[in-house]
Amino acid sequence: MGYTMENITQRERFISALKKEAVDKIPVCAVTQTGIVDLMELSGAGWPEANYDPEKMATLAIAANELAGLEAVRVPFCTSVLAESLGCSFDKGSFDTQPYQLDFPCKTKDDVKNISVPDDIIEKPRIKTVLEAARIVRERVGDKTPIIAGLIGSAATAFYLSGATNYLMWCITDEEKFKSLLQIGTEACLKYASALYGHGVDAIVIIDSEAGPDILPPSLFESMVLPEYHSITSQLNGLKILHICGDTSDILDHMASSGFNGLSIEEKVDIRYAKQIIGQRSAIIGNISPSATLLDKSPDIIKKEAKQCIEDGVDIIAPGCGLAPHTSLDQLKSLVYARDEYYQENG
Ligand SMILES: [Zn+2]
Repeated sequence: MGYTMENITQRERFISALKKEAVDKIPVCAVTQTGIVDLMELSGAGWPEANYDPEKMATLAIAANELAGLEAVRVPFCTSVLAESLGCSFDKGSFDTQPYQLDFPCKTKDDVKNISVPDDIIEKPRIKTVLEAARIVRERVGDKTPIIAGLIGSAATAFYLSGATNYLMWCITDEEKFKSLLQIGTEACLKYASALYGHGVDAIVIIDSEAGPDILPPSLFESMVLPEYHSITSQLNGLKILHICGDTSDILDHMASSGFNGLSIEEKVDIRYAKQIIGQRSAIIGNISPSATLLDKSPDIIKKEAKQCIEDGVDIIAPGCGLAPHTSLDQLKSLVYARDEYYQENG
């Protein structure tokens, strides 16, 4: 690679860790949302504007790197971008709430045939905003900092398009319609992800919690969702991460075989167990609880948990899911301090 461990950049370290190559120390970052009120106040870029304005999105995202010390810049701060671009409608949310869904297009099974991925989907306003934000971030941070972009995956897209009730019903009663919705998600995801790589993004993270055991039976994950993931990972040349909320223990083996470089897991999954199942197939990213730990606990307890997480063998230390907006900057920084202290204490 042409660098020594002494002058390795955050970007090189992140990429190496994601490829499970040797690193001097593991990266500390967030692959899920990083917008917190403290950073909004310090940077002058807050929600809801930072979800809709590329300059503000870039400014708030960079603040998590420059002010909190997280070793990546992550955009955007919500999961509504692709869903809105496919015809769902959202309320813009507020300074401390993400956009939330108001309406969805597939009220009945007949509606599914009317949904398709527009040829010009990357020209849709929400997507253009994120692409432009990524471009601005790269321009501002230079080439030494990794950029991560999140987008929803096949299952989450199907969920947003059909609504919770239809999603939970059709996955059992009408596999054909369910499959069509998943495929729409896959196609949209591929187009959007390719454009993100083209705008300076180093790694995409597919947020697909509606594929997880909390919502979808593992047997359906295997028969319906896994083929979509294979389709996504085989067609995307860049680095890719999969994030599924909740306890994913029962589908970890399949997740690890789906072709993602990294798997982002929540605190409900035991890291040592995950390591056993995943082996060398994917990097493990996680899994400090954003609500039980980062939002609520003192810096000392956060550091203790984070050090244990490193000891247990994570490849990238990160919050297990999106940060709660009222997480304080000090709490977030203690995650970074924990990683630094761990290497001081353990040589
Ligand atoms: Zn999550």
